[in-house]
Parts: sequence; C-alpha cells; structure tokens
Amino acid sequence: MRPDSTPADVAPLEAILGDRLVRDPELMRPFARDTSRAALEGDPIGVVLAESTADVSEALRWASSTGTPVSVRGAGTGLAGGAMAYAGGLVISLERMARIIDIDVANGLAIVQPGVITAELDAAAREHGLFFPPDPASARISTVGGNIATNAGGLRCVAHGVTSDSVARLEVVLGDGRVLRTGARTRKNVVGYDLTRLFVGSEGTLGVVTEATVRLKPVPAGEPRTFRASFRDLESAGRAVSAIVAGQARPEVLELMDALSVEIIESFRPSGLTVPRGAMLVGQTVGHFGADAQAEAEAITALCRSLGADDTAISDTDELLEARRLSNPALNARGLKLSCDVGVPVAALAEVFRGISEISARHGKRVSTVAHAGDGNLHSTVESSDAAADIVAADAVLDDITRLALSLGGTISGEHGIGSLKRHELPWQQDDVALSVQRSIKAALDPAGVLTPGRAI
Ligand SMILES: Cc1cc2nc3c(=O)[nH]c(=O)nc-3n(C[C@H](O)[C@H](O)[C@H](O)COP(=O)(O)OP(=O)(O)OC[C@H]3O[C@@H](n4cnc5c(N)ncnc54)[C@H](O)[C@@H]3O)c2cc1C
Repeated sequence: MRPDSTPADVAPLEAILGDRLVRDPELMRPFARDTSRAALEGDPIGVVLAESTADVSEALRWASSTGTPVSVRGAGTGLAGGAMAYAGGLVISLERMARIIDIDVANGLAIVQPGVITAELDAAAREHGLFFPPDPASARISTVGGNIATNAGGLRCVAHGVTSDSVARLEVVLGDGRVLRTGARTRKNVVGYDLTRLFVGSEGTLGVVTEATVRLKPVPAGEPRTFRASFRDLESAGRAVSAIVAGQARPEVLELMDALSVEIIESFRPSGLTVPRGAMLVGQTVGHFGADAQAEAEAITALCRSLGADDTAISDTDELLEARRLSNPALNARGLKLSCDVGVPVAALAEVFRGISEISARHGKRVSTVAHAGDGNLHSTVESSDAAADIVAADAVLDDITRLALSLGGTISGEHGIGSLKRHELPWQQDDVALSVQRSIKAALDPAGVLTPGRAI
C-alpha cells in the first residue's frame, strides 16, 4: 500500500500506455500471484503489459512520482513470493517482451528480451549448434528475465554454473525510469564495478531487466548418456556425490531423489523407476573436452558401486532426467508443498542428509528431499495440510533444516531467492554490516523505494 493509503491517480499513466495498462480486476488476477504459497496482500491498481523499454520507463517514472509500489513479473513461476502484487500497487509484466533479437554465433552470444521462455532460447541456440547453459527444472515455463532476476540454478549448474555465469550485458530500467546499460559483449571486461552481477539475483528490487545479452556454449559433439545409481540410505548417496564432484569425470547433471520422492514421482507419472531403499542419483555425461560420455558414465557408476550403490544403470535416453524434472508438480499433487532451498558445501552432503533424517524423526513429520546434488542444493519438502497449525509445524521442520545447513557452512537459498517468504531468515545468514550495505545500494538505486519494496533484502 502507498504510505498515505490514498489511491494514486493512474490517469496520466493510462494516457501514455492506453490498453497496455490493464485495470479490469478479472484480467489483472493472473498477474497478481507467483507459484509460492505467499498470501496476496490485495488487488493491484493496474498491470502494465510492457511492450518496450519505453513502456517500463514510463511506468516506473509514474510509480516513483506517486510512491506506488511495483512488483515485477516474468512468468510467475517463482517460489519465494517475489512477484506477488502489492495492494494498490502496479504490476509490470514482461511477458509481451519475448523476442530473441539476435543469435551471434561467432561470439557465442544471444540478445534477448526478458520475457523469452528459457527453453525456447535454448532450442533456438541449438539450431546453430549452441545451447543456453542455465537449465532450471522450470525451463519450459519460466522466463530468461526471471532467471536473471533470481540468479536461477538448475540441472546443468554442476557443469556450467548458475545464471550469472551466462550473463554478459544487461539493459535495466531503474526506479526513476532511467535506462542503465551494464557489461560488455567481450569475454573480458573490467571497467568499473561489476553492475551486471549486482543486478543478477536482485529479485526485482534494483531495476527491471528489459534486455539481456547472454552467453551460449557449443553443444558437445558426443552422444549423451544418462546414469542412475541406487543406494540403501541417503548418507551413502551423499558421500558418493562428494566423491564424484571431487573426481576426474565431469557430469553435466548430477541430481538426487530420495526414496519418498521417487515413489511420489512414479505414482504421478510412471516411467518404470524402481524405488530405491534410500536414495537414487541420476545424472548425465556429455563427453566434455573430447571425453567419451559412455566411458565417463561407466567411471561414475563404478565409483558409486564402490561406495555402496546396489543397483546402477546407463542409458541413452532422457527419461531419468524427465522424471527428476517432474518432482515439483508431483510433490505438489501429493500435498507436499512446504519446501526449502538450502545449500551446503558439497563435502557436507552426507552430514546434512543424516541431520535431516534426525530432524524428520524428532518432529514426526515425513520429509522428502530432491537435490541438485552436484551443487549441494537441496529441496526438502514437508508433508502438511492447509490447516494453520499443520503449516506452523511443517515450517518448524524447515527452520531446523535451514539452521542445520547454516551450521555446516551453507546458505538459506541456493537458487529460489528470498522474496517475501524467506526474509525472516536473512539475519540467520547475514550480519548487520552485510544487510545495511545492501540497503544502502537499494536506497542509491531506488531512492523512492518503489521497486519490490520489503522483499529480498
Ligand atoms: C516446476 C518448477 C520447477 C522449478 N525449478 C527451478 C530450478 O530448477 N531452479 C531454479 O532456480 N528455480 C526453479 N523454479 C523457480 C522459478 O522457476 C525460478 O525462480 C525462475 O527463475 C522464475 O522465473 P519467472 O519468469 O517465472 O519469474 P517470476 O516468478 O515472474 O519472478 C521471479 C522474481 O524475479 C523478478 N523478475 C522477473 N522478471 C524480472 C525482470 N525482467 N526484471 C527484474 N526482475 C524480474 C520478480 O520480481 C520476482 O522477484 C521452479 C519453479 C517451478 C514452478
């Protein structure tokens, strides 16, 4: 709500944007929420269906001059509440800015508008023998702009890093409507502060990304192989992940699903997976730098067997990874919807899994865990009904898991961001100096405080 709670006069913005400003409550509704369980504060005053950088500038100039809070929205697949509308606020949607402007094959770059769906950019790049490395499990439904704003991770991070590793330049509209261009098309660039990285992961609090130049990589020449390894307990699987990551083979993907997750995914959409006793690792090798993908997969599965895997297999199809991508909808369908996104140093995986089992037993709550295991990034999900007391009890389990991860040198969020849902956890990880420096940066870039206020930092 605006500080004085009086509705802002939206007529001047309407005069500029015409039907690109939606005011009908029914039509605004789909733009008011993201995919998190954050509660809606109230209806927005309008939704800007931006078609250009100029539209975003006009909207933010108006918002700053009227003190209207703004939420920024890509596809709304976010899980932290960052894109939720504010009561009486303005929503800026980037879904109409969805053009791939250029694929520069010679330099391995793509220039895109923020509303491009991630998997569509990847598919367009593949027509030129290139690919877009970031690969969130939501790649078919989330936008490149949203991935940049959350610094999304995903299945291929273990080999290619997170989204920030693939961003070269940004065009960003600041809170007062000015347009800032950061970075360069070059491989190397050390001019001034690294503003590109500052905006990546800023969750809509510092500016609105209206164009991005992202890095592409050549598709490896060999035939990829997927592999799986089943373990009788989670801890052994965790130890195997640490050993694989520390070893010579370079998996492109290294994911983990515990027994409960595999059972739930299988009953959601059967793909013939046998439920392991403890946990299953699934991964892919592609033969980086001339290595043979089959030989790499064999080396990894042999290592897994030496560390206690009781069943391993190698395949040339993608089904295992598809099963992993289904974990979020499958868990949701089963009512397991309260989850966390903690990260730990990879060598601490076995310890964190042991701790999670203890926490689950202590609270008497079933916990299922899937993990971008090669990155040490875990999504543990707790069973809960919609009853308030049940949610409080489930949150207590997640709080304990989060504190456990921190005690092992980890983080409260590996990839989903803080949004509104995890803001209370910030002081668990960051001290007063870190928090106040970030608030100073926010105040310098958005002095009117209209961009995604009260979230992320
Ligand atoms: C099934 C499923 C699987 C998922 N798997 C993964 C995964 O593997 N890895 C992962 O990291 N996440 C995952 N997510 C979470 C989510 O998809 C990511 O956070 C994604 O990056 C959000 O993109 P979006 O376009 O939907 O952004 P939104 O949800 O619309 O917005 C997310 C945040 O970014 C801001 N934002 C959006 N666009 C812009 C812009 N152009 N400029 C400035 N700020 C902007 C918003 O204000 C908000 O704070 C998953 C979600 C689902 C539903």
